[in-house]
Amino acid sequence: MSAYLQAKVVRSRGLCVLSSIGKSVLNRDLWLVTVGDATVPYYPDPESPSTAYPKPKFAYIGGMHGDEIGNVQLLLQFLEEVCTAPREARLQALVDSTVLYIVPCMNPDGYVQLTRLNANYKDLNRNAYSSAFPYARPTTRDATIRNGYGTPLHPEAAWFLTAGGAAMEPETVAVTSWLAAVRPTVSADLHGGALVASYALDACDSKGSINDCPSVEAPLPNLLANAYSMNHKGMRVQLDDTYGDGDFVNGTTEGASWYTALGTLQDWAHHVQHLHMITLEVHSDKQPFGRQLAVLYSLNRDSLLRLAEMAHLGLKARVVDAVSRAPLLAHVELLEPKGMWPPEVEADGLIWKVAVPNMRYSGTLTPVDPGNPDARYPPISFNFTLAASWDEVVSGTGLQGLSAVYTMRARQARRK
Ligand SMILES: [Zn+2]
Repeated sequence: MSAYLQAKVVRSRGLCVLSSIGKSVLNRDLWLVTVGDATVPYYPDPESPSTAYPKPKFAYIGGMHGDEIGNVQLLLQFLEEVCTAPREARLQALVDSTVLYIVPCMNPDGYVQLTRLNANYKDLNRNAYSSAFPYARPTTRDATIRNGYGTPLHPEAAWFLTAGGAAMEPETVAVTSWLAAVRPTVSADLHGGALVASYALDACDSKGSINDCPSVEAPLPNLLANAYSMNHKGMRVQLDDTYGDGDFVNGTTEGASWYTALGTLQDWAHHVQHLHMITLEVHSDKQPFGRQLAVLYSLNRDSLLRLAEMAHLGLKARVVDAVSRAPLLAHVELLEPKGMWPPEVEADGLIWKVAVPNMRYSGTLTPVDPGNPDARYPPISFNFTLAASWDEVVSGTGLQGLSAVYTMRARQARRK
C-alpha cells in the first residue's frame, strides 16, 4: 500500500500529501493522505469577499477491522479520483475549499492477515473508551454474569472487556491523537458486513442494556447519516436489521438501537472531542473482489462526496476589528438550542458550528484580540438559521446553501 499511495501522491502534483500518523503493533505505518493545502484560505463570504477563511476539514478512516477490506479499496479508489487532475467541477470545488484527510487503513496488521482484530487480538472499535464517557467502564461482573441458560447477560460488556482491552492500542492512540489535533468538522469511519449509515450514540450505559440515547446534537448525527445513505442506491432502501430488534430508516440507524457497541471511535469523538463522526457500513460482503469493487465504487462515490461536503454545513464566522480589520478570537456561548455543543473557535479565529437546517441557534460572542490583551470589546449577540430544507441538504450537490457565512465587525469599547 505504501508504494501505491506514494505513486498516487506524486501524480497529484502537490495536491495530495502522504504522511504517517503512527505505527501499528507490528510497526506498519498508518498512512494519511491529506488532500488540499490547509495554509491556503478560501473566500466564501459574498458580503465580505476579501475576508480569508480557513478551509473546513473532513476525514475518512477505513480498515479499522482488517477483514473488512472492501472499504480500504473504496478509499483508495476515491483517492485515485480525488488526486488525479482534471477533476469534475463539483469535486474541484470541494478540494479548493476543504481539506480532506483520508486514512485508508487504520489496522494494517489485521488487513494483511485478513483478521478483524489487530496483532494484539484487540477490536479497535471497542478500544476507545475514556473516563469522559458518561458511564463507567463495564466491570468484570457485568462481563461475566450469565443468564439461566448460561449465556452472558451483557455480551457487549463481555466483548468490550475481552477484545476492547484495558488500554488503547497503538493504532487507537495514533488515530485519536491525530483526530484531537486536527479536529475535523465531520468525519466517518468505514466498515463492511452490512449496508447502513450508523450515527451516535453506539452505547448508552456500561452494560449495553439501554438501546436509545439520542445525541445532545440530535437530529444532526441522523442528518449526516442520511447525507450518505440517501445518495447510495443500495443503502437508502435497506430496512432490515439483521442483528438487533430495531429497523433501519432510509438505510440509517442510531448505533445503540441496532446493537450496542462499547468504546467505539464514533462515541469517543462524540464524548471526548465533541466532534461529529458517523460509522459507515459500506459493503455487505466483507471481502468484495474484481468486478464487485468497481460496483462498490460507483454505488458509494456520490455518497462519499456528499458527506465530505457536509464539512461546510452550518455556521462559518470570523470576527475582525471594525477599524483595523485585524482578525480576532472570541469566547462564544450558545444559549439556544439548549444543551448543544457551543460553536468552536479555532486558533486562527474561525468560528464554526455544524448546524441543522431551519433551526435557530443563538448566543453571545465576546471578541478577544490575541495581539492586544488590553483591548476590550463588548459582547455581540448572534443568531443564525440555515435557510435550507433537510432534503436540500441531504440530496443536494455542491456547496451552495450549506453554510451561513458571516464576517462580524467588532468595535472596541470606549475607555472611561
Ligand atoms: Zn467493522
